[in-house]
Amino acid sequence: MTSSLLPTYARAPLAFESGEGAWLTSTDGVRYLDFGGGIAVASLGYSHPRLVEALTEQGRKLWHTSNLFTIPQAERLATRLTETSFADYVFFTNSGAEALEGTIKTLRKYHSANGRPDRFRVIAFDGAFHGRTLATIAAGGNPKYLEGFGPPLEGFDHAEFGNLASVEALIGPQTGAILVEPIQGEAGIRVGSNEFLRGLRALCDRHGLLLAFDEVQSGVGRTGKFFAYEHSGATPDVMAIAKGVGGGFPLGAFLTTKEAGKGMVVGTHGSTYGGNPLAAAVGEAVVDIVLSPGFLDAVARTGARLRDGLLELQESHPGVVAGVRGRGLMLGLELRPPVSDFVASARAQRLLVIPAGDNVARILPPLVIGEAEVDEGLKRLAAACASFAPAPALDEAAG
Ligand SMILES: *Cc1c(COP(=O)(O)O)cnc(C)c1O
Repeated sequence: MTSSLLPTYARAPLAFESGEGAWLTSTDGVRYLDFGGGIAVASLGYSHPRLVEALTEQGRKLWHTSNLFTIPQAERLATRLTETSFADYVFFTNSGAEALEGTIKTLRKYHSANGRPDRFRVIAFDGAFHGRTLATIAAGGNPKYLEGFGPPLEGFDHAEFGNLASVEALIGPQTGAILVEPIQGEAGIRVGSNEFLRGLRALCDRHGLLLAFDEVQSGVGRTGKFFAYEHSGATPDVMAIAKGVGGGFPLGAFLTTKEAGKGMVVGTHGSTYGGNPLAAAVGEAVVDIVLSPGFLDAVARTGARLRDGLLELQESHPGVVAGVRGRGLMLGLELRPPVSDFVASARAQRLLVIPAGDNVARILPPLVIGEAEVDEGLKRLAAACASFAPAPALDEAAG
């Protein structure tokens, strides 16, 4: 098929027409169980009645006013987020990358406001993914994403994920902050240990650095806590979120403490669309549901059931599954065959999973997924594994 879309994606020749809960129906009428959630975005699945209601109700009233005016929906959502996190302030964006841009600007501005504009360098990590803008590809440091786009934005140093000594070795007079995903998503669901994250906090405190978490993928209930950092006991100064918070409506944010955000005064940052009434109304509905009593416990329980099932797959198909990673409903299946082949085999079973680094298939189903769907998904994963089984020896097949 010819396409007028800039060919930056190798798209599967598969389009969807509708969705309900964890299920998507293709344009040719086939139902798929979605264990990818549109890359951790469809946190409440598809066509959630309360999200549809929030969107259509606001859609009938008012879509956009700009940030030159007070936006009550954004005010309420921001207050909800600060009441349930370390943060005092929220700035809304339309994407994860923009949330990271704002995070990085806040980190730099803090030291500038303290009379130390030279402390603009940020320590980030190998395997990191922070988005595709010029600043965020520099922060991510992946040579494949930087290639051909000119000199990378100055000011990022990369340490080894999980290795505190490698971080400490990079801290110099110009270092102002550390930026890390508590669980690296694109890299293959690499979970930062509690000890590592607390160690980063301690390093920041000792050296006067700010600590920033990128929870664009791990935040808003994905791991069974509202934010993944809550598992660790380490609290950031600044944090980026996106993906799940909009439930499919483009919405992101960065959150900051009053102290870390003290340089971000009138005129220092902006966004025409960020936190507009439509986005904020949907975000409010998402956060209301995720924070409703019992919701996060259910995510933790469902995640444990799924994880147990994946571990059983590893036992029954050791030639295909090398390991299981992750927390809550942010899981990864370490594979022996190429992950792209496995994703295709799963799709042949009408199950969607998402490739990641380290030859891992990411499993990021809607948080509202039920036990029956977990079991159905596991059955389909087992069938996908079986499709890789080595052909039986000839005499066995004959016998
Ligand atoms: C997806 C992602 C981003 C970028 O978000 P976009 O909305 O694609 O710009 C940044 N950080 C992490 C951890 C992500 O998973």
